[in-house]
Formats: sequence, structure tokens, C-alpha cells
Amino acid sequence: MATTTDLTTTREGSRVLVVEDSRAIASLLVSSIDRIEGVTPVHAGTLQETRALLAEEADDIFVAVLDLNLPDAPRGEVVDAVQAYGIPVIILTGSLDPDKRQALFRRNIADYVSKRSLSGVDSVVRLVERIWVNREHVILVVDDSAAQRNYLRVLLHNHGYRTLEAADGQEGLDRLAEHPEIRLVITDYNMPRLNGLQMLEEIRRKRSADELAVIAISGVGEAGILPSFLKSGANDFLGKPFEIEELYCRIDQNLDMLRHVAQARDAANRDYLTRLYNRRYFFEHAEALHARALRGEIRLMVAMVDADHFKSINDTHGHRVGDEALKAIAGVLQTFSGRDGFPARFGGEEFVCIQMLAEDQHPGECLERLRAAMEAITLFTPEGKHVPITVSIGATCNPQGSIDQMLELADEAVYLAKAGGRNQVVVLDAPCGEVGNSQLLRRGAC
Ligand code: GH3
Ligand code: MG
Ligand code: MG
Repeated sequence: MATTTDLTTTREGSRVLVVEDSRAIASLLVSSIDRIEGVTPVHAGTLQETRALLAEEADDIFVAVLDLNLPDAPRGEVVDAVQAYGIPVIILTGSLDPDKRQALFRRNIADYVSKRSLSGVDSVVRLVERIWVNREHVILVVDDSAAQRNYLRVLLHNHGYRTLEAADGQEGLDRLAEHPEIRLVITDYNMPRLNGLQMLEEIRRKRSADELAVIAISGVGEAGILPSFLKSGANDFLGKPFEIEELYCRIDQNLDMLRHVAQARDAANRDYLTRLYNRRYFFEHAEALHARALRGEIRLMVAMVDADHFKSINDTHGHRVGDEALKAIAGVLQTFSGRDGFPARFGGEEFVCIQMLAEDQHPGECLERLRAAMEAITLFTPEGKHVPITVSIGATCNPQGSIDQMLELADEAVYLAKAGGRNQVVVLDAPCGEVGNSQLLRRGAC
């Protein structure tokens, strides 16, 4: 049976409905939730007020925090009123015994929090924040049972996740190919065409466990399959029947792990000061672009950008101002590169841009615009003194035999730009000593 290929999302709004009749608790909740960036709390003290508020602005509300005991609704009637609009619900409750917990989750809630302790407010804020940021995550549910998919979809939407669905392993692989933004897959084992294990093995050929998390769910009596899932690269598993809270915890933990790995990878690839890519990242990615240039698929330019008399900026204004100047230079490089390449900080005040050029783009003209943009940077010291910034740019579009050779030629061009008086662009087609050279562009000449 085919599933919808649509990405289903929970809610677009940025408001949190807080329904609580105790003024003290309500004002604590409202002020705490208000501190979450991008989120606005709205308050109601009774069921009647809640109904009026929902009629006006239900579409703007992405989650509700509800007291079960209100003056005009003592038995949790407010939950149905809010859920009727498809809004995920967090319950504030006095007691937390296991029976009550089970009964609450049967009402299809996102979570419950005790309001007896002060930490309850912190828990609500953390949960609201989590549901708010979960909208960035897309989870793929792979299961041949439509009922099970629906069940999981509702649970995931209650925590703000966006979802996609597939009815068997093959469809799962198709969805993953169509949606590279998927970060986590929840899969059943027993499915027609391609089972969960076979799908996982295919997934792991392309994507590692720290890039795309997979949680396997075994059916009743299938628990024996779970070790095979783990050996084949599943990040986690759940046996049916599972506790809803356990599902949420495992999803949260796996997404946290992916985020930490991505952050560590990013830190290893970027320069701390300017946030540009570093030398290591440059070489890892420049080779592939160079290979395409050698095959004639693209026209590649490598440009070296070196700040002029940077030592004197430090000497005159101090290292902090020097750092600000480097950040400003990096910002201009980032804008210049756009989608057709990327800049990297090679060291100190030396940067490299690797860039794909269209046939009609003139390297000297492009780089002259870059040079002018650098000269136009307006940086002031804390005392209000203007800090003039200029750069010398050396570049080549000749792919030669390697990226290293392109860099050597760009370096030679920078040397010429410096020798020629700085604040200028030099583009070389070949080393200066070689016959057939070259196009030499000075400031104003291109
Ligand atoms: P030229 O025009 O010949 O390139 O002169 P220059 O002064 O820019 O070149 P030089 O290589 O002599 O000096 C580079 C200076 O850049 C020296 C160093 O202190 C400074 N520098 C390198 N990295 C940083 C940094 O991260 N922050 C700051 N503030 N300064 C840096
Ligand atoms: Mg310099
Ligand atoms: Mg230098």
C-alpha cells in the first residue's frame, strides 16, 4: 500500500498556551516561557477563557501547558477542548502515580509535569523548548501497518517533529533519497519487498550511524531480531509494546548525539575566529573540484587574498581590532563566494577562495569587485578611529596538474601584487618565467 510522500508537519505558530488558574504558577510559567527565543506565551485562567482564546488564535499555538483542575472544568475537560484543534498538550498535574501516568498518556499527551516541585517549571520550559526546536527535525517512519504509522505520527507530532512515512523498506530508501534532510528513521522489521534489516544494510552503505540515526522497533515475539539490527548499524531499538516516554527519550538521545557529532565535525573544519573553513577542509574539498576542472566540466579559479600591512593594524590599534578586521574580511569573502565556491582561512591574515566561474565571467573583473568590497569595509576602533583595510589578491584559472600547483601560482601572483604596491589584483595563467604568459591585471587595468 502506497503512503503519502508529503512531509507532514505539526504546527507553524510560535505561541504557547498556558492554562492555569493559580496566578503565582501562571506568572512563573509565562515569564519563564517568554525567555525562550522566538516563543510567546499566552495565558488563560479558565476553560471559558481558553475557548475564547482558541477561537481567535488556535493556529498560532504550537503547544499548550494545561492545568487539569480549573474553576469551571475540574476534571481535565480543557484537554479535549485544546486537542480538538490538534494542539500538542503538556499536562500540569499534582500527583504522578503510575496509574495516573498511564491514563494521561492514553489521552494522547506530549508529556506531564508535576507542579508540586519547583523543578516542574524548569521541566515545562525544557519541554516547550524541545518541542519548539524539534520542528527542525524530520523523522521517517517505515512500517507496513498503516495503524502503527498513524500511531507513531501522532506521537511524533505531539513532540513537534516533522514526519515522512514509508510502507516498506524499498519505499523507505526512496524517501531517504528524495529527502536528504531526514535525520532519523524509525523502522519496523517485518515488511514486504525489503524488510527493516535489509533496508538498514542498504542505508549504512551510504550513511553512517553518526549522520543518520536508525531506531528499530521489533514486533511482539520478534525481540530476537534486535541484536541483528544493532550489528547491522542500528543506533537503538525498542521492543513492542514500548512505553511512550521511552520512545521520546531514545529519539531525543539519538538526535542529541547527531548534533554533538555535527558540532564536533564543524569545529574541526572551521577556523575559530572567523568561522570560515580551515586549510584541512579546503584540501579535503578542493581536490574534487579540481578533478572536475581537469575533466573540463567546470572552470575553476583559485584566489589567494592577503591583508595588506596587517601587522601595522595590530601595532597601531591592538590585536582585538586586528581580530575584528579579520572577521570583517571573512564576511566579505563569504558573500563573494556565494554558492559557487567557498573561502578558507589558510593562516594568519591569508585566505584562499576556490570558485567555479561561468564561461562569461572574467576572473580579473570578479576579483576587482572583491578588492573594492574589502577597501569599502568600514571598521572603527572603540575610540572611533577608522581602520583602513586593503588586500592584495593573486589568482589563477589554470588547473595545471594539481591544486598545490594552482596555489603556488596564486601565491606568485600575490607576491607580484604586493611588489606592485598592494591593494590590487594579479591573475596569472602560468608562472611568470614561462613562455606564453600571461594576463597580468593591475588595479584599474581590468
Ligand atoms: P603584507 O602587506 O606584506 O602582507 O604585510 P603584513 O603585515 O600583512 O604581513 P606579515 O606577514 O608581516 O604580518 C602578518 C600579521 O598578521 C602578523 C600577525 O601578528 C598578524 N596576525 C596573524 N594572525 C592573526 C590573528 O588571528 N589576529 C590578529 N589580530 N593578528 C593576526
Ligand atoms: Mg599581509
Ligand atoms: Mg602574510
